[in-house]
Amino acid sequence: MKNIVLGAGIAGIAAAYELNRNDIKSVIFEKNNDWGGLLDNFEIEGFRFDKFVHLSFASDKYVNDIFYQTEFISHDPVSQNFYKGHWLKHPAQNNLFQLEKEEKEKILADFKSRKDKDISEIANYEEWLRVQYGNYFAENFPMVYTEKYWTVEAKDLETKWVGNRMYKPTLEEVEQGIVSSETPNTYYAKEMRYPTKGGYKSFMMPMVKNLDIRTNSGVNKINLSNKTITLSDDITYEFDNLISSLPLTEICKLINDVPSHVIAASEKLNYTSGYLVSLGFNKPDLADKLWFYIYDKDILSARVYSPSMKSPDNVPEGCSSIQAEIYFNKGQKLDLSDAEILEHTINKFIGIGLFNEEDLVVKDIRSEKYANVIFDHHIYENRKIVLDFLEKNNIISVGRFGEWEYFWSDQSLLSGKNGAIKLLEKINKKPIS
Ligand SMILES: Cc1cc2nc3c(=O)[nH]c(=O)nc-3n(C[C@H](O)[C@H](O)[C@H](O)COP(=O)(O)OP(=O)(O)OC[C@H]3O[C@@H](n4cnc5c(N)ncnc54)[C@H](O)[C@@H]3O)c2cc1C
Repeated sequence: MKNIVLGAGIAGIAAAYELNRNDIKSVIFEKNNDWGGLLDNFEIEGFRFDKFVHLSFASDKYVNDIFYQTEFISHDPVSQNFYKGHWLKHPAQNNLFQLEKEEKEKILADFKSRKDKDISEIANYEEWLRVQYGNYFAENFPMVYTEKYWTVEAKDLETKWVGNRMYKPTLEEVEQGIVSSETPNTYYAKEMRYPTKGGYKSFMMPMVKNLDIRTNSGVNKINLSNKTITLSDDITYEFDNLISSLPLTEICKLINDVPSHVIAASEKLNYTSGYLVSLGFNKPDLADKLWFYIYDKDILSARVYSPSMKSPDNVPEGCSSIQAEIYFNKGQKLDLSDAEILEHTINKFIGIGLFNEEDLVVKDIRSEKYANVIFDHHIYENRKIVLDFLEKNNIISVGRFGEWEYFWSDQSLLSGKNGAIKLLEKINKKPIS
């Protein structure tokens, strides 16, 4: 029985791992030169930077039994917000203490007079923000951030994805955050974990032992009639069962004879891509925030993390590092060269006092085509058309871009595991617990 898994990110690896636990062999084909997908990392002169992923707040036992075999560092989820020269605790909505009196008054007045609407009557994310926080805060904080992070306007997003991701303070909490900086941490995770050594992908190490992972093996064609995949070097492999963690937008381009309405639906799926601007410093204390958000429009970056705070193993001794995220829409790079974006980011960060030019010893910019799926108003219908087609053709689609969901790494792992269980059911093998 030939079982093929496409993509060696955490979802593909988890699928092959679960099959292996059930004594079913599979081969994973991965286009990159290493496994890990968005959980992989890269190193420059002793500085290690993750490709987007940051910290784990997994709670599922199956995931934790895998991840936490690896020694980890535990962090309190303390983050900051940069807004017009002020540093506010996160979430900003109930930590406004640092703002000028006038702006606090406007936010409070609008918070008090916000509309009371049931979620079922709310048409889009912009309205959701106005109803939750009042107009002034909505317009100056999350609506601006939405354009930077999601690359679309808040009115163009639906709201089911929000869940507990956005804190909804009471009036008392907003008032408390206005008069005092001593507010409780209301972040949705209570603890964030990161491997002591080797970057985030070390959490995946217990899964990759004994897997057959073929790197530098991008899949170019999938032929459903004769059940074969063809790699970029034209080598063809037959399969009986196929699990794919490839983006829905990509797999439809690879399969022969996809109906036009399915192609059309896949092309309508929207997503963000992202630049990673990675900076290393020759001093130990320049990155003193685990992560922070930037609301100012004139700074391209939406978020900044510190790899050296995640683990000192990510930098040479006596050094520190930060990594900024800048988003663009659906693979369409910004109208600036990579060198200009790098320079812009460095200059803006020097301008807000994060470091001095002479502190910088490593600077790098690169990008990833797939970052977040965008929850526009047609996501569910378009996604369903593509997923139904794949299911009908016996392709088990897993992972963040294979299910087209807002999955954290632990959810992508479970998605891969569930994909393997579907395959086991298909071949009438009872999965072990
Ligand atoms: C900005 C950002 C921050 C995040 N932060 C966190 C966090 O702090 N904590 C957390 O838990 N999660 C975080 N996540 C989510 C996490 O990164 C994802 O859930 C997870 O990495 C998705 O894994 P995956 O295997 O589904 O997809 P991927 O990692 O994208 O894997 C898919 C694989 O398929 C390969 N592939 C694509 N096309 C082909 C082809 N034609 N042939 C062969 N191979 C192919 C790709 O190279 C890739 O390796 C973050 C994500 C982003 C974007």
